[in-house]
Amino acid sequence: MIVANTGWPDLELLKAAPILIWRAGLDAKCNWFNPAWLAYTGRTMEQEMGDGWAEGVHPGDFDRCLKVYLNAFALRQPFDMEYRIKRACGEYGWIADYGIPILNQSGEFLGYVGYCFDISTRRQSEEKLEIACKDLAASNAELEQFAYVASHDLREPLRMISSYVALIERRYGHHFDADGHEFLGFVREGAQRMDAMVLDLLEFSRIERLGDPLIPMRIGGAISHALKNLKTAIAECDARVTVDVDASLEVVGDVQQLDRLFQNLIGNAVKYRQEGITPQITVMARTNDGKSVFSVQDNGIGIAPEYFDRIFLLFQRLHTRDAYEGTGIGLSVCKKIVERHGGEIWVEQSPSGGSTFLFTLPTPE
Ligand code: ADP
Repeated sequence: MIVANTGWPDLELLKAAPILIWRAGLDAKCNWFNPAWLAYTGRTMEQEMGDGWAEGVHPGDFDRCLKVYLNAFALRQPFDMEYRIKRACGEYGWIADYGIPILNQSGEFLGYVGYCFDISTRRQSEEKLEIACKDLAASNAELEQFAYVASHDLREPLRMISSYVALIERRYGHHFDADGHEFLGFVREGAQRMDAMVLDLLEFSRIERLGDPLIPMRIGGAISHALKNLKTAIAECDARVTVDVDASLEVVGDVQQLDRLFQNLIGNAVKYRQEGITPQITVMARTNDGKSVFSVQDNGIGIAPEYFDRIFLLFQRLHTRDAYEGTGIGLSVCKKIVERHGGEIWVEQSPSGGSTFLFTLPTPE
């Protein structure tokens, strides 16, 4: 920013400039406006002189602007401010006003020159963006609330289906032939499956609304907790899990949600293993630029690149239930958790043809 100008700028140049310009003397009163200013406000030099120009300033901006102007004037300092001023058409326009003190050769203060630009378009876009962001946040909160209520209330009729199927089986089971038992089995299985999906949806809807505050924490705890919860699944397929992460590495996070994140990703690496090959899973981290990048790499069945985005959407699965159990919510939960932490998550193909899931988390300052 220019701190001060030595000598008044050439008046002919100011007259011809396509931006709005004013000048003020030692008494802080304006004593000249260029033609661009007068064309913008649609007023005469006489009307604008002294404090006349202030009549056009929007009442909502006036006090703030006067304070900035008088403070800067008292300290002989440059200033900049944005305010609304009435245009020739009668509407208010937004301008950015840069005031620069003028000194003579010996450094004595002579007054100010102000250079102003119309920023109405930028301001309108900002206002629109702000409204859109507010609307989006409101509809997001509404959707989360809806998902919560819907999933919570859906469990009740499901419980009823399950308990009456059990009752029918107990009381009338001996009247049924093999088909009858099989059909009842489908009803029970359907209800159980829907309950699992509803529970997952409930968990998903709670991430944003009911998460704990984000605090500095050691990531080692989340990884070992996730591995402890997956102990049986890991042992069953004799998976080799290597954790190449400094246990004292700190991130800013929600302890429970990061447990869940590692559990979902390592759990998937175990679940989507290749038949006949020992599952090799490696968890790694590298830190740079105020964030840590974590990766969970496997040598499993891999994912075709055209599905790299789709798998993070709710209920999206690449396999039938017969091939692999699941509801298709695990990765949506991971994405929501990472995004709540201000990070990103994505998947790449690992060198072995398996998958590598990567995500970023913020590190403490
Ligand atoms: P779920 O495992 O319940 O189906 P997810 O949301 O965790 O749900 O995963 C979505 C889909 O992404 C899975 O159905 C699977 O096709 C694919 N997927 C996830 N993790 C892996 C992985 N490590 N290797 C191969 N495919 C995976």
